[in-house]
Amino acid sequence: MEVREFDSPAKNTWCLGCGNFNILAVVKQVMAELVESGDVKSEQIVISSGIGCHGKISDYIKVNSFYCLHGRVVPPLMGMKVGNQRLKVIGFAGDGDAYDEGVSHLIHTARRNLDATFIVHDNQVFALTTSQVTPTTPIGFKTKSVPKGSFESPLNPLHLMLACGATFVARGFTGDIPHLRSLILQAVRHRGFAFIDVLQHCPSFNPTLEKFKPKVYDLNKEGHNVEDFAAALEKAKEWNDRIPIGIFYQVKKEIYEKQLLGDRLLAEEKPLPSVQSVLQEFM
Ligand code: SF4
Repeated sequence: MEVREFDSPAKNTWCLGCGNFNILAVVKQVMAELVESGDVKSEQIVISSGIGCHGKISDYIKVNSFYCLHGRVVPPLMGMKVGNQRLKVIGFAGDGDAYDEGVSHLIHTARRNLDATFIVHDNQVFALTTSQVTPTTPIGFKTKSVPKGSFESPLNPLHLMLACGATFVARGFTGDIPHLRSLILQAVRHRGFAFIDVLQHCPSFNPTLEKFKPKVYDLNKEGHNVEDFAAALEKAKEWNDRIPIGIFYQVKKEIYEKQLLGDRLLAEEKPLPSVQSVLQEFM
């Protein structure tokens, strides 16, 4: 399958040099590889995205997609997988969308271990609305909402996901495309909730490419044991002089929809079960 078969006719309006282009390119490559290798058919891939610059990715990839309300990227993933376990579902969110408006959905879906991939375009700022603080904005960073600099301690997304029980926790960087491609491919092939926080360069409001590039290193090339929870927590603290990217934690655990439904495929049941009849089974 050719990557270009995932190209959409929509005009791309991201700013020149935006890290979102790299995420988009990599995701289309991964999708082509998944189809080529027989992992999934293209019509079985469904994506959802939220509100923010990242959200336009739903317009730019020619697959079935769900454009969500702000912070509501995860609930459609849950609904789609419960309705049809054969789907490959991938959610895209910004750092504001994922860690602010949508954080409760993220927490509970991670602990349930839904078989889904969740990719955060983390540029540490609300960029679509031209620069306000998000939960990952660093201390001292000046935006329109805090002209004297942010004074709030930023959230550590990796610590959050580790604490919630996500079974695949990783960090990517839009300045290292081959690494990001490998990471997203492994995340999508992981059976369970796969989370990637991607450090995303935003040339218009938070240009981080040159700042992060000399500091970023691949922790999986330095002997990190991905099954060691304590080591993952420790590595996730590292930030200032060296910034680890790669898989921090990965373990096997039964997935949510299998525990809920066994091998039932609600989407293929004839006639399709009503919502009431499904709910009745749990009452
Ligand atoms: Fe990308 Fe930033 Fe422009 Fe949004 S504002 S499209 S995140 S460069």
